[in-house]
Amino acid sequence: MAILVLGGAGYIGSHTVYALCEAGREVVVVDNLETGHVEAVHPNARFYQGDIADQPFLTNVFQKENIEAVIHFAAYSLVGESVEKPLKYYENNLCKTRAMLETMVANGVDKIVFSSTAATYGEPERVPILETDRTQPTNPYGETKLAMEKMFHWTEKACGLRYVSLRYFNACGAHVSGNIGEAHNPESHLIPLILQVPNGKREFISIFGTDYPTFDGTCIRDYIHVTDLAEAHILAVDYLLQGGESNIFNLGNGVGFSVREVIETARKVTGHPIAAKEVERRAGDPAQLIASSEKAKRVLGWNPQHDSLEEIISSAWNWHKNHPNGF
Ligand code: UDP
Repeated sequence: MAILVLGGAGYIGSHTVYALCEAGREVVVVDNLETGHVEAVHPNARFYQGDIADQPFLTNVFQKENIEAVIHFAAYSLVGESVEKPLKYYENNLCKTRAMLETMVANGVDKIVFSSTAATYGEPERVPILETDRTQPTNPYGETKLAMEKMFHWTEKACGLRYVSLRYFNACGAHVSGNIGEAHNPESHLIPLILQVPNGKREFISIFGTDYPTFDGTCIRDYIHVTDLAEAHILAVDYLLQGGESNIFNLGNGVGFSVREVIETARKVTGHPIAAKEVERRAGDPAQLIASSEKAKRVLGWNPQHDSLEEIISSAWNWHKNHPNGF
């Protein structure tokens, strides 16, 4: 029996496919390659290029392959773009997932693990954030992910499908092999943008806001290594295969670092002075996002291995310095 990974050519998807293949699992990847990279697909996975909303295409994959569970990464994930083009996000993240879910149910596959996000919480009431805390997204990206969670919830009630929603905090780092890493175009995430400076592709990094109510005035985030996220997906699939009930889990390290701390660590790791410029706040950024991942540790047995910021940035640097233009 195989695991079907939708969006398996993207950043977190490709790292999960690597982890599955390294664990000797049978893996089928579907990706339309709009933002994914075919070079990121592990050679042991069977790859089908196509869109998750293309029902004849996906039906064919379900009929050809013996799929026991789905892991779904295929979505847009740029917060800023989602504010400018909300309907693009509703179409891609929600409408296409709806069509995919219909195909899945029609083909009798009833277990799915999917990507959610800390953006479902919006401005948190407190940190660390628990799964039961208020969800009030402040952008369409978080809103579509929360709506996806609800769509799965109601589909479970009607069709018996079981799901695990994984709410990631700040995914970062790269695979230890150096073969795959983060390659977004355009890039909008802090660590890859910082590393563009020592790579000679950017003169300085902008610090978005220095007047937040934090110890050094800059935003605090919970940075979690992509390999640890990948492991959590395997644990979540196995949890469902062993009969676990539908569930939602935060995935983070439970430790926050400020933007200034991340830049300082990148200076240490790269040996480059990395110029920084203080600019205005970016709209919609909460001051602090830190996960409580106690539930994932307790229920799934998740145990993140790469919790040092230095190690996370070293692995990202190992990828970016060798792939300054991505794949
Ligand atoms: N950030 C920054 N400069 C940049 C990009 C990001 O200061 O060029 C800050 C951003 O305001 C946030 C943190 O870095 O506080 C992480 O941003 P990112 O976009 O990587 O992830 P997010 O937390 O938005 O999911």
